[in-house]
Order: sequence, then structure tokens, then C-alpha cells
Amino acid sequence: MPVRRGAAAAWSIITERMFRALTATLGAVVRLAFLGTGSAFSLERYNGAVVVDGRILLDAGAPLLPHMHRLGIDPLGIDVIFLSHFHGGHVLGLPPYLLHRGMNGGRALQVVGPPGVEAKLEQLNLLAWGEDWGAFRGRIDLSFEEAGASGEAAGVHYEAVPLDHGSQECRGYRLHLGGRVLAYAGDTTVTPPLDRLVDGAAVVITEATAPEPSAVHTSWGEAEALAARHPRTRFLFNHVFAGRPPMGAVQDLQVLDV
Ligand SMILES: [Zn+2]
Repeated sequence: MPVRRGAAAAWSIITERMFRALTATLGAVVRLAFLGTGSAFSLERYNGAVVVDGRILLDAGAPLLPHMHRLGIDPLGIDVIFLSHFHGGHVLGLPPYLLHRGMNGGRALQVVGPPGVEAKLEQLNLLAWGEDWGAFRGRIDLSFEEAGASGEAAGVHYEAVPLDHGSQECRGYRLHLGGRVLAYAGDTTVTPPLDRLVDGAAVVITEATAPEPSAVHTSWGEAEALAARHPRTRFLFNHVFAGRPPMGAVQDLQVLDV
């Protein structure tokens, strides 16, 4: 009965689209696809990257392309990338991803990041692709923005908060989506700027690297205490090195409607 199956599939697509449009209007649902949820040298998890509603990428830990493909996310559908900082676990998925964009064209792509974002990514891609990078670069409608205190990128209003992460310039982002705030931290210690980043947010994605305290990361105990200080906020912990934090953590390739 191919006709009926085709009709059912078409109806399913229509109702799914209607549901997404309605909930987006109401601000009820944001779809988060966790491509990776591990710290840089985790043996158990991939490096961190999150796709929001199929069009916003939060950090770019490797690998991006096969994980987008597995989750049915169109790599050409990304409009804007927010980078928290330039450690390898957060940017090394970009050279293959940008090569894909260069080979396939598509819509404009904006990259928002800490100071020096354009020079850093040019360095990274020159290292990866040598002289060939120039040709690929020319085929992408690519622009860069150093994150100010607030701004707008690809129609997304954001605030950026400098976070404490050792010697790195690190930015957390508060994205205003459908009347709610989604806060994303990247890597950080638990200092007052992190509390400012998450204050009043509906959903927070932030790190919980290991049980032990660290000079540059958030421990499991600190993560639990942070969540306790903001009881009205939903916390999604990532950047886990190994094991299972007692307060839970998101998993590689997990998709959540929040
Ligand atoms: Zn880092």
C-alpha cells in the first residue's frame, strides 16, 4: 500500500512541522542535539558540540559531520556558530565541517567567538588544508564576530559573559530563544560570572568534568551546588571526562526537547 504509506509519511511531516512552528511561537520547545558530551581527552565520550533547533551550533568538538548525519541534521542548515573558546576539544571539528560548507555552498554562516576568532580560525584551517583553504574559504559566505556584551547573529539575540577558564579567553552565551534564555558555558570554573550567566535562564548547558576539584574546570560537587542555587533552571551537564556524575549528564547523540 505505497500510496497510504506515502500519505501517512506526508501527514507525519506536516504535523511535525506544525508542532514545531507552534511550539517555537509559544517558546515551549527548543531541540538540543548533543553531538558530543566529553572533555578533550575523554576515553568514553566525543568532544563537545550541541546543535540547537538545527541551525545554531554551540562549540565544534570533533567529529561534527558524521554525528550530524546520524541525527538527521543538515550540515548546511547551520546559520551561526557560537564558540566558547579555542581549546582543541571545542574547535577541531571545524576544518572538516568548513570544507563541507566550501564544497556544497548553501546559506551564509556567521561565527561568534572570543577576541581573535577570525585569526584563530584562519590559522586552524591553513594548518588543516594548506594553500587549498583559500579556495574553499572563497566559496563560503562566512563572517566573524567578536562577541561583545550583547549582539545579534543570524537573528539570534545573545548576551556574552566572560568566564574563568585558566589562560583562555572564554565566553558563555545567553541565547534568547522564543522568550526564554538558553545559557551555554563551554569550559569554566565556578566563579561569580558563571552564576551571572545562568541567572534566570530556563535551560543551562554547562560542564561537570570530574569528581575532583580543578583550577580550570567544574567538579561534580560544584555542579550540584550550582544547580541548587538556581532551582528554577533546568541544568544539562556535559564535558564529562569519565563515569556518571551523581546529578546526571547528557549523553553523546542524545536529542532533547526542552
Ligand atoms: Zn577548555
